Amino acid sequence: MHIRYLKNTDEIIAGSPLMVQNPAELKGRWRSLTGAGTKELYLEIGCGKGGFARQKSAQKADALFVGVEKLSTVLARALLTSDIQDYPNLRFIREDALHLTDFFDEGEVDGLYLNFSDPWPKKRHEMRRLTSPVFLPLYEKILKKEGLLRFKTDQKPLYDFSLEALEACGWTVLRTTEDLHQNGNPLSEGDCMTEYEENFVSEGKPIYCIEAKKLK
Ligand code: SAH
Repeated sequence: MHIRYLKNTDEIIAGSPLMVQNPAELKGRWRSLTGAGTKELYLEIGCGKGGFARQKSAQKADALFVGVEKLSTVLARALLTSDIQDYPNLRFIREDALHLTDFFDEGEVDGLYLNFSDPWPKKRHEMRRLTSPVFLPLYEKILKKEGLLRFKTDQKPLYDFSLEALEACGWTVLRTTEDLHQNGNPLSEGDCMTEYEENFVSEGKPIYCIEAKKLK
């Protein structure tokens, strides 16, 4: 049963037109995927089931959205619920964020989303957090000058850690909130809910959000 499930996952990933199988081949020319009208390129790192990237791509038809997800089983779920006809400007890659600079050229990316990244609560695992000083320089490299990094979490300790890491790595924090869904919060303008977020919000948990950029 388990083996059958895994095989199915690989088949879904191998057969989906939304998958970019060899992302390194597109380094420096991602916009060619979706044609001349494509202006901007946005990434969601750890896109899970892909709901956020789907909604975002529908919002901005002249931008390309790429969901990065390292877990095949989760990614297969994203692929099964997205149709290329409905989301022509959406793609997915099955990769670890550690290798982002192999796939995206310097300054190629307009904006980057981190939504409900794994908290890695133990101190000895802090460098695995997607906002740690291991990852921030990678984002800095692939983001265009003053490209926006947007981060959401339900975890206060991860929020605090992220603010410290951003500052330590020389980023400028533009806006923060400790309750994104509070009425009239300007940070929720144009935002979309992720699958994790739907759950946390329905449990009444506050959502933390940070917007930052690196002045080069
Ligand atoms: N953004 C989604 C999923 C959040 S869970 C949502 O909000 O609903 C975090 C996701 O990040 C998981 O699916 C996990 O597999 C993925 N992830 C964690 N570390 C990663 C890494 N280094 N590279 C790519 N994906 C990663």
